[in-house]
Amino acid sequence: MSLFVTLFVIERNKMTDTYRHKGLRKQLAQLLAEKGITNAQVLLAIENIPRHLFIPDNALHKFAYEDKPFPIGSKQTISQPYTVAFQTETLEIKKREKVLEIGTGSGYQTAVLLEVGAKVFSIERQKALFDRTKKLLPELGYNAQLFYGDGYKGLPAFAPFDKIIVTAGAPFIPEDLLYQLKIGGMLVIPVGEGDDQIMKKIVRVAENNFETEDLGVFRFVPLLKEKGQD
Ligand code: SAH
Repeated sequence: MSLFVTLFVIERNKMTDTYRHKGLRKQLAQLLAEKGITNAQVLLAIENIPRHLFIPDNALHKFAYEDKPFPIGSKQTISQPYTVAFQTETLEIKKREKVLEIGTGSGYQTAVLLEVGAKVFSIERQKALFDRTKKLLPELGYNAQLFYGDGYKGLPAFAPFDKIIVTAGAPFIPEDLLYQLKIGGMLVIPVGEGDDQIMKKIVRVAENNFETEDLGVFRFVPLLKEKGQD
């Protein structure tokens, strides 16, 4: 085999999805249903999306369908599937709604949002993750608008959004995000500075009126300030 063909085959192997992976995904979706996820579209997204391909370390691929977070480089993690499913279910996304995601990371949550019909805008502050995911998502057939920047500020140029999801633990609720919601729009955000955060659902019920609901304890990497490599 020529070098070119060899490299091509290796490249393809890295990106393969198999019946075994599909079977494991079905089991993962069943597990999430047992853990309380009821939204059929969300469960179908979990069943459809090749999570292993969002994990850069091939050695971890065999664990990709366990309900656990895994490292993705830059000291960040791909969120636990239950958490991804829980946040997505909470958002109650309708077809073509504009959704802003803070913390693109691996792009897995982005793919889930796309599968349930959202038009997705996503911000990442780590350049290395941004670059990798910007290349990966279209290769897997997922089209989102990805931005390298500071999620605390949201995306004023594209606001207002129907829904906003924050996928890192925020020390406080960023006001910019609240005011980039449509009236009736919803922000789902884990809030807390220690290891654990409280998942909060905040609905903008009127121009200056927000209703907050606490949805339980979760564990995320921290939402950090500004763009950065740390
Ligand atoms: N949704 C991601 C979760 C990744 S972990 C996934 O499914 O893989 C959280 C991500 O938020 C990390 O990639 C981290 O770099 C990013 N992040 C942290 N602070 C941020 C900020 N201020 N703005 C944008 N992204 C941020």
